[in-house]
Amino acid sequence: MADKPQPVRVVYCPVCSMPPEYCEFGPDFEKCKPWLIQNFPDLYPDLLKETNERDADKVADKLQGTGISSGSSDGAATSAPKQEEVKRLPGGKIKKKEKQEVVIEKVIRNKRKCITTVKGLELFGVKLSDASKKLGKKFATGASVVKGPTEKDQIDVQGDISYDIVEFITDTWPDVPESAIYFIEDGKKVPAA
Ligand SMILES: [Zn+2]
Repeated sequence: MADKPQPVRVVYCPVCSMPPEYCEFGPDFEKCKPWLIQNFPDLYPDLLKETNERDADKVADKLQGTGISSGSSDGAATSAPKQEEVKRLPGGKIKKKEKQEVVIEKVIRNKRKCITTVKGLELFGVKLSDASKKLGKKFATGASVVKGPTEKDQIDVQGDISYDIVEFITDTWPDVPESAIYFIEDGKKVPAA
């Protein structure tokens, strides 16, 4: 009597046709695994863990994969070439514009305030901070070294000194020839000489 329900309860593995608890001793345990996991996960807890770990690994791999593609390679792609571009652009521009010349421009600010900008003195080995001091002293006005629109330093001198500045420059820094000094007038570059 006690044996009676047993045949009913015994389920044989469809893969190796052995009772599930013998599958691991069977010829094709690997193939039994999916069926065992589905029907007898309690019999082989290690199997389930193994599968989960493998799946977790896969997920981790995937995450790492996307991490690599969107993270490091992307990051490298955005940071490295950008740096190159930044280096290349000003480099190229400066080389083209590096013609030794001093450009003076009168700029009206706030309608009443006039400023004379002096660009390019540094190309003749003139220290801009020193030049700015000298210009301020000579014309009894405010002068300062500021970053120009092209990120290059320029000297801003308060007031319109454009008519006296050429002589002052050539007197103060003999290395700057008058022929290298230009004015910007109405957006056009005009030689001072
Ligand atoms: Zn089996």
